[in-house]
Amino acid sequence: MRHRLILIIPIGALLLFLAVQLYMVNSILQQKEEMIMMQYKSLSKEGLSMLVGKKKANGFEKAMDITDKFTGLLVKEEMHKLSDSNDSSLLKNESAGHIYSIISKNEHLSEVLRSYIIDAGYDNDFDAVIFISRLRIFSDAGEMTLIDEKPPAAKERLILVNTFREERNNFDIEFSFLIDLTNKNELVFREAFISLMLILASIIIVISVFWLTWRNLVEERRLSELKTDFINNMTHELKTPLSTITVAGRTLEKEQVLSDPHKVVETAKLIGKQSVHLNQLINTILETTLLERTEFELSKQMTDLNELTHQVVTSFLTSCDGCAVAEECYEKGGVNAMVDVVYYTTMINNLLSNAVRYCTRQPLIKVVTGSEDGRVSIQVTDNGIGIAREHLDHIFDKFYRVPHGNIHRSKGLGLGLYYVRRIVEGHGGLITVTSKQGSGTTFKIILPK
Ligand code: ADP
Repeated sequence: MRHRLILIIPIGALLLFLAVQLYMVNSILQQKEEMIMMQYKSLSKEGLSMLVGKKKANGFEKAMDITDKFTGLLVKEEMHKLSDSNDSSLLKNESAGHIYSIISKNEHLSEVLRSYIIDAGYDNDFDAVIFISRLRIFSDAGEMTLIDEKPPAAKERLILVNTFREERNNFDIEFSFLIDLTNKNELVFREAFISLMLILASIIIVISVFWLTWRNLVEERRLSELKTDFINNMTHELKTPLSTITVAGRTLEKEQVLSDPHKVVETAKLIGKQSVHLNQLINTILETTLLERTEFELSKQMTDLNELTHQVVTSFLTSCDGCAVAEECYEKGGVNAMVDVVYYTTMINNLLSNAVRYCTRQPLIKVVTGSEDGRVSIQVTDNGIGIAREHLDHIFDKFYRVPHGNIHRSKGLGLGLYYVRRIVEGHGGLITVTSKQGSGTTFKIILPK
């Protein structure tokens, strides 16, 4: 429950933080949008009154005169069609279109606004829109409504500059002059850029800090689990030889065993073997602790690695009573490098011992040496159980053991490969691993000469 809370509280806080930031982004964009619309509206109004003040006209009067003439002609020649004809709607549309173009052609408000807005230092990327909401024509015979629509609400990109109403001999009209801010979104983003960048930066910082803390937490948990596993394994590993020795000691006290010299020798051998194993285990633990505390002190010397590797392989096979078959391919002409013979021996021994321990059939080990790009390489390949891909990145970590169901089935403390990696790195080299589950594993060590 505590673990869950540790995870839930920060995730909740992060989500809350993101929600607040999103809310802020939204309200900043809204504010900037309102501000821009207001600015353009007041600029347009100022522009309009300046135009009327200067020219005493805005072009619409002239447009109205022309429209009056046009509607006069229309009334005279076509009015009967408008009321009678079947295709009156076509005529209505044409007439309305004509009146639209008369007004648009004659207005000089948009041009004035454009230069006025530029002078005020604003973006002039807008379209002038004229919207006729009502248009009626009259004659003695009656009246005809050509357009009757709701005036557009000033919304989205549209800014209402002014509404005009006119009545002449032949028509009356109501129209609005609007500007359509075509790049409103771009303007809003430009205005809000700095605030948005600050919010983005704060989100990035908070997420990075969160991610780092989270990674540390996960890593710490992993390490603490590894340590617990290690302590369990170590207890088990130390107890096994100890209890064998205790039992063997008690056996030696028995009369029937004492009287049989063969049994005494066998039991003494067993005690000796288990003591050696116990000693090795304790040494591994001590060496690893030492590795942690002190810097590597290697006494390197130019060594023929073909010869040294062959010696290590041979003595390993002897000590394990030929537990494996080894195939050795050494580069012709010799492979020489500066290495610490003792550490090198331990390193190869660890790889060979793993090759045997993690194998469920007759172990077949291939040892290959070579040289590439002024460096030397030593490769140990086995036909063992292999390592699943998800574990490959971790096997060189301290205490890491690939779980095999029951962790105690194959003995180990998870220190062997860690030790190998530290030795390789101490020599300025690197170690890589490739593996196929069920087929085997290859460890490749590359060392400078
Ligand atoms: P230990 O053998 O004591 O567990 P190591 O550090 O030597 O620790 O190995 C870490 C893990 O890597 C082992 O638990 C084992 O699962 C896996 N491993 C190492 N060498 C081999 C190999 N040759 N074949 C298959 N698995 C291996």
